[in-house]
Amino acid sequence: MNPPPDSGLHWLDLIHAPVFVLNVETGQVPRANAAFYRILPPASPVAPVALSDLLGDGAALSLLGFIAAMPRDGSRSTLSLTCPTANGPLMLIMHLKPMPGQPHVWVITVDDRTLFFQGGASGNSEDTFRGIIQELPIGIDILDSSLSAVFYNRYSDSIYLYDSYYDLDMTEWFERAFPALHDRGRARVEWTDALAALQHDPDQPQTMEWRVMCRDGEYRVLLNRVSKIGSHYTFIYWDITEQRRLENQLRTLAMTDTLTGLHNRRHFFEASETLLAQARAERLDLCLIILDIDHFKQINDTMGHRAGDDALIVVADRCRAALRPGDLLARFGGEEFTIVLTDIPSDEAQAVAERIRAAIADQPILHDHETFCVTASIGLAAAEPGMASMDQLVEKADKALYAAKRGGRNRVVVAAIP
Ligand code: GH3
Ligand code: MG
Ligand code: MG
Repeated sequence: MNPPPDSGLHWLDLIHAPVFVLNVETGQVPRANAAFYRILPPASPVAPVALSDLLGDGAALSLLGFIAAMPRDGSRSTLSLTCPTANGPLMLIMHLKPMPGQPHVWVITVDDRTLFFQGGASGNSEDTFRGIIQELPIGIDILDSSLSAVFYNRYSDSIYLYDSYYDLDMTEWFERAFPALHDRGRARVEWTDALAALQHDPDQPQTMEWRVMCRDGEYRVLLNRVSKIGSHYTFIYWDITEQRRLENQLRTLAMTDTLTGLHNRRHFFEASETLLAQARAERLDLCLIILDIDHFKQINDTMGHRAGDDALIVVADRCRAALRPGDLLARFGGEEFTIVLTDIPSDEAQAVAERIRAAIADQPILHDHETFCVTASIGLAAAEPGMASMDQLVEKADKALYAAKRGGRNRVVVAAIP
């Protein structure tokens, strides 16, 4: 090993970590400690040494450029560099501090991550550290500044298919992870946005939730956190597939009526307010139907509660069958149902209501080998141009419904247009 250029012991040699001093004006390294020369021996034993002779031209230029662009507040003071040596490239993380009172002089502490990034037996704590990272139940990928993978852990390997991961370019990676063109396009935009945001503020990690195709052919939802450390990008991600599945299940349950499988009252109000606002904005017709089963209490009283339940299920099915996929159908409560029809004039909505009424009344309901008949009364109201909320339309349709009840039941009444 070459001796340090300055043969006398210097206080820097008392520091265990590799450290060197850089004069950015001259591009020279007036001093470095023994620990530094152990990882990067100088070509010439005479100090000062040119930075480019120590690190190689590319890394020296990157370091000087990084310092020139560094904010004066001391933030973003860490840079990762690859330095070519006779024994292969070194991956170095450099922590930079300005020398007090000497604006052109920097003290740079070096962290040699070569083993960490590229593997190799060292039998020391670095190995233990790498072992821990390898076994973590989260994915860790590190990309260099040209977005090539320089490290991935075992979990990451188990998620992705890439035997030749190191050779994959980003385009190919996206093609494998997002087979559907639409998903791929969206993910690429998110990725580009995240890179731009990191460029702008490297201290603020970005997150992306991606549903990706994994090596076993299954889709998984991964929460990705990407941060920039020096010129490298670090991806940390974990599987939230099950969490998202449960959340979706809960959301569906929260908006569903368990007996009929229709939307419940709460969801009806949420969804119908949106439809009303949309209809108002686009000047579309919107009609509300409220349907109430006639003498339902009698069915419960004479045939039993389970027969009543069956009637509710059958009425729900008959309503569903009469509607288009985009129509909103909900169990409003008890034996009342609501339907929102958009982009359909009042007379056509009345025909739909009539079809539903007939479908309910014309066929008997089978329960425990017995049949019985039900009818329903229907109120229909069309939204007026300035109508602010669904409550007003519900009130209008409700009045029409009670007119239908008073008029003898099993009929459709349309609310008068003022
Ligand atoms: P009208 O023709 O005036 O509408 O009379 P109705 O008997 O249909 O109306 P009423 O409001 O008197 O009775 C509604 C009944 O619906 C009372 C309630 O016990 C019953 N009900 C509400 N929810 C359910 C349910 O989930 N299952 C069953 N089986 N009955 C229900
Ligand atoms: Mg009722
Ligand atoms: Mg009723």
